Amino acid sequence: MDTPLITCPHCRSEIPHGANVCRGCRAEIKYGTPKFFIWLGLLLPVVVGYFIARFLHLTVGADETVAYVVWGIVTLAGWYGCIRICKRLFKNYVSFIRQMNR
Ligand SMILES: [Zn+2]
Repeated sequence: MDTPLITCPHCRSEIPHGANVCRGCRAEIKYGTPKFFIWLGLLLPVVVGYFIARFLHLTVGADETVAYVVWGIVTLAGWYGCIRICKRLFKNYVSFIRQMNR
């Protein structure tokens, strides 16, 4: 079985996919969803759910309990959706992080 090669953007070395450190410049190699998107995926459904619940409660006149339940459902569904989307989007995503003071 052939291991696909990935190219380091910092030093142009070719490294087998799956390695954790670049052979050429010691850059750290990360696979999968970047942390920023994980945080975004966690925060966004909470915020969106809050505004939907607020809208239902204040504009539509829904019960406070109903609003909280909707907030919970939107948040959970949002997390689930974000995990699925991130996994698909970043399935083959590789990022190289070069440590500056080394
Ligand atoms: Zn490198």
